[in-house]
Amino acid sequence: MENKKVIVTGGNRGIGKGIVLYLLEQGYQILATSRDSTKFDFSHPNLKVCDLDVCDQTSVDNFQKIVSDFDTDVLVNNAGITKDNLFLRMSEDDWNQVINTNLNSVFKITKMVVKGMLKKRWGRIVNISSISGSMGNQGQTNYSASKAGVDAFSRSLAKELGSRNITVNSIAPGFIQTDMTDGLIDEEIIKKIPLQRAGDVQDIASLVNFLASEESNYITGQTLVVDGGLFMK
Ligand code: NDP
Repeated sequence: MENKKVIVTGGNRGIGKGIVLYLLEQGYQILATSRDSTKFDFSHPNLKVCDLDVCDQTSVDNFQKIVSDFDTDVLVNNAGITKDNLFLRMSEDDWNQVINTNLNSVFKITKMVVKGMLKKRWGRIVNISSISGSMGNQGQTNYSASKAGVDAFSRSLAKELGSRNITVNSIAPGFIQTDMTDGLIDEEIIKKIPLQRAGDVQDIASLVNFLASEESNYITGQTLVVDGGLFMK
């Protein structure tokens, strides 16, 4: 995979960092983002880091320039936030921030790479959604709507790009131990998970690695659930 180039948004911590570290080990070249790239607490000769705030158009425009010189093979749309509240108390601002960060960003960043993938007739797009997008969750009308949107986006784009050998899939994690879930994962939650533990970032990163590889050639338009069995349809 030495020549393959990967973008990971939100690659400085949590699941994104796990993905970056895992893919670096496989020999990929990586462009990873954070809102403040000085926050990266690790480095590697094959890792380039840069600033990106997906909600700030100037930052998105600057990132576009960097991407146009990168020749992306694999895009991992990982950056995301929660702003949980019961619907009656949810402000329009909390709604908009979550939709902008989790869903509108996927539109904007994917736009930056698809033309290049079409030219080389090869590409992998992996979007990090959530089981909340399929099962729903109290206090997460904004978040679950954004993630259901990401899943549906992936299916539609997969149909548009399949003939050019570009696959588009989403990964729906359950509870993964990161800043986002800090203090949320208690004994009651663990009891509900058939595998009896929270996930760690490698559980997601190993699937990203598979979806980025040739081994996943015939998988597209899917939402792959990685949740220890918490949500079974
Ligand atoms: P973290 O809160 O640990 O990390 C979030 C990442 O997103 C950070 O790198 C952050 O960058 C970046 N980010 C947030 N807002 C923006 C923005 N406006 N512009 C650019 N980057 C931004 O979260 P996780 O690692 O847990 O989550 C990663 C993804 O996985 C998200 O999409 C999340 O919804 C999804 N997910 C997580 C689950 C979990 O249990 N942890 C479960 C299901 C889905 P910065 O450091 O600059 O803030």
